[in-house]
Parts: sequence; C-alpha cells; structure tokens
Amino acid sequence: MINFHILTLFPEMVMQGLHTSILGRAAERGDISIEAVNIRDYTTNKHGRVDDYTYGGGAGMLMQAQPVYDAYRAVIDHVSQNENKNKSARVIYLTPQGKTFCQEMAQDLAKEEELIFLCGHYEGIDERVLEEIVTDEVSIGDYVLTGGELPAMVMVDAIARLVPGVLHNDESAQTESFGNGLLEYPQYSRPEIWHDKQVPQVLLSGDHAKVDAWRLEQSLLRTRERRPDLYEKYREKHPETT
Ligand code: SAM
Repeated sequence: MINFHILTLFPEMVMQGLHTSILGRAAERGDISIEAVNIRDYTTNKHGRVDDYTYGGGAGMLMQAQPVYDAYRAVIDHVSQNENKNKSARVIYLTPQGKTFCQEMAQDLAKEEELIFLCGHYEGIDERVLEEIVTDEVSIGDYVLTGGELPAMVMVDAIARLVPGVLHNDESAQTESFGNGLLEYPQYSRPEIWHDKQVPQVLLSGDHAKVDAWRLEQSLLRTRERRPDLYEKYREKHPETT
C-alpha cells in the first residue's frame, strides 16, 4: 500500500488522469491511495496568488515558497496524525534538472509507504523551499514541459503498478521490459493467422520450456538490436550470454 500525495496547482488534472482504468480500480480497492493537494488553498495572499516575478529579472513568473511549504506541512501533519508515523516521507520535485526516471527508480520508490510529489509550473519554484523540503529531484526526460503534473502522473503510474495487488497478475511486472534488464519478447493473441502472418509455432506447442527459451532468445535479440546499452549491462551480469 502506498499513499501518493501530489502537490499541484491543477488537482483536477492529476485526479482525472490517475483515477482511470487499472489505477482507478486499485484506488477503489484500497491497494493505493492518491490525493491531490491544491497549493493555491494554502496561499496567505488575499487575492489567491501563488506566483510572483523573479528577482534579478527574466521572463515568466515563479511559484512562491510560502504556499508550497504550507501545503507540504499540511500533508506531513496529516500523515503523522493519521498513521502515527514519524514524518520521513520522501518528497519528489519534478524538474528537468533532476535525475532521469527509470524502472530501477520506480522499484526503489515502490518500497515506500508515503510519497509526496511536488509539481512546479510557470518558471518553476523558489529555490529556498526546494532546499528545505525536497529529498529527490526527478526528470522524465531531456525536454521542458509546462508543468510537473504529467511527470508526476508518469511516475505514480509506473510506481503504483509495482505495488502488490495493483496488477491483476503481479508476475507481469517482472516479465515486462526492464524487469530482468531486457526488453520484452514479442507477443501474439488470436487469431493464429492475421494478414497472412502466422503466430510462431513454438507458442502453440504447449511446451513451456521451449516457449521460455524462445522468449529469452527473442528478448536478447530485440535488446541487442534496439538497446545495445541495456544489452551490454545484461551481458556483464550474465557472462554466459553470447
Ligand atoms: N525553468 C525551469 C528550468 O529551466 O529548469 C523549467 C520550468 S518548467 C517550464 C515548469 C515546471 O514543469 C517545472 O518546475 C517542473 O515541475 C515541470 N517540468 C518541466 N519539464 C519537466 C521534465 N522534463 N521532468 C520533470 N518535470 C518537468
């Protein structure tokens, strides 16, 4: 069970996106919980402002420290009161300047009980509050988006599907791409022939050992061709691989 808390200026965006399909059903069952906290609700500005000009000039507005900090405090206080836990939740700031997100990071974060995601908008967030509350800075790739909401949704999705019970079949998270360091093998469903293309015979044989051997071979071929960097890492760990 993981409780995801997303600090954002656009709560409806993340709630709609994340309460759909597999994650929506997992939240209904109580395997995960996802709450979006509206940073604007915590501003002390009487006009509801959460951003201001940057010192030193430059284009665009910056999210101010006060509402971000107070929204964070509200989550931390709520977690420690409700769960009687000490308040050591990891706080992940989504930023193009962070470490690039990957499956290994998702596996590491899936061990936590409480995760707080901080979504920036406009030009980002006042550095002082980041210094005070953030434990991890994570990017979803070398490009700049308008806000941290989509990156937070990407991360929550990838982490949540590793929580026991979220996927119908927990095994699928292990056999999928990156689970064992390789890309997944090709897969087929009915009919046996489609557009004159036949499903590989071995998959119809009922011989599980042969199917497993074929799948591993296909994974290796595919990884070597598409992701030579992953293939080399795999070979270092499995020197028997040709
Ligand atoms: N001024 C910032 C910079 O140059 O590093 C970019 C700010 S961006 C326009 C606004 C917000 O979108 C960021 O605070 C961050 O939360 C989010 N964001 C944008 N691109 C991202 C990425 N590749 N990964 C994670 N978050 C991103």
